[in-house]
Amino acid sequence: MNIQQHYLTKNKCYVSPKIIKPVRLMVHSTACKGVMASSFLKTWNTYQPGGRSVCIHGFIDTTGAYQTLPFNYRAYHCGGTCNNNAIGFELCEPSSYTDRETSMKIINNAVEVYAHLCQLYGISPDNIVSHKEGHAMGIASNHADTAHWWNQIGYTMDDFRKAVKDTIKGTNRSVDVVLNTSYGDESRWYLEDAGDGYVYMRNKKNGLYLDVESSGNGTFFKTRTKNGADSQKFRVLHKPYYHVDYIVIEPKIAPGKYAAVEGNGSPGAGNTHLKLWDDLKNNQQKFWGKVASDGSYLFVHTYSFLYVSVVK
Ligand SMILES: [Zn+2]
Repeated sequence: MNIQQHYLTKNKCYVSPKIIKPVRLMVHSTACKGVMASSFLKTWNTYQPGGRSVCIHGFIDTTGAYQTLPFNYRAYHCGGTCNNNAIGFELCEPSSYTDRETSMKIINNAVEVYAHLCQLYGISPDNIVSHKEGHAMGIASNHADTAHWWNQIGYTMDDFRKAVKDTIKGTNRSVDVVLNTSYGDESRWYLEDAGDGYVYMRNKKNGLYLDVESSGNGTFFKTRTKNGADSQKFRVLHKPYYHVDYIVIEPKIAPGKYAAVEGNGSPGAGNTHLKLWDDLKNNQQKFWGKVASDGSYLFVHTYSFLYVSVVK
């Protein structure tokens, strides 16, 4: 799903932004039967649409998805505290609430958008709620969306959350981490803040994130679709060894264990894997780090001179 940007540059929420850290997603519908996104993109692009302070992160209809505010800008969509930490989209409603075919086109577009947002922000699909559910939780005003419409076609928020989960599973990719002679894109890693001194490590070539799914010795490192789990958070530590500093990579899920080079590099370029192991205090876990001109990091194994990389 291609989310098209149509920022409401005249809306109060865009003009005077407040930055939020999204931890929840809310599903709305417009309560305007048969009005598609293109109309809202015009009527909401004013400081206070209809004299009210309202804004939303985007609209979804049968034609696709339209982002109206950067996702980390606070919108006024729920009339409660969840404005401070939730991203919300308005689903445009069909002319008839019993029109299942049109309804499902809109809902299926929404499933893709919410699956994307879950992956982008590491939010569990269990933390997707409708406006109505948000009111029951005490974090939103008393509205009935989306149940007033979805009840007419026998579709529930549980169905929606399950569809999002299934979509994420379908797009969940995994690529092996190996050591290579190349210092091209496959060996470049962008470090993104993951809080508490940890970073996510995004591979430049495949856009996936370094991941070690268990804390057991011998677990292979992979790159996977971002899911926000601790298995994708690492500390890049400097350790002194005699007179020299070297780098070790420590996963959040395995404190005191580090990334280790299989066979100290002997399987050769493209065949050597990166595994997790206890602190070996030897060359297998030592790397040099270098910042490339594009801001990415390269990690060179100090013994084999091979780079931490993904399969080409
Ligand atoms: Zn609503």
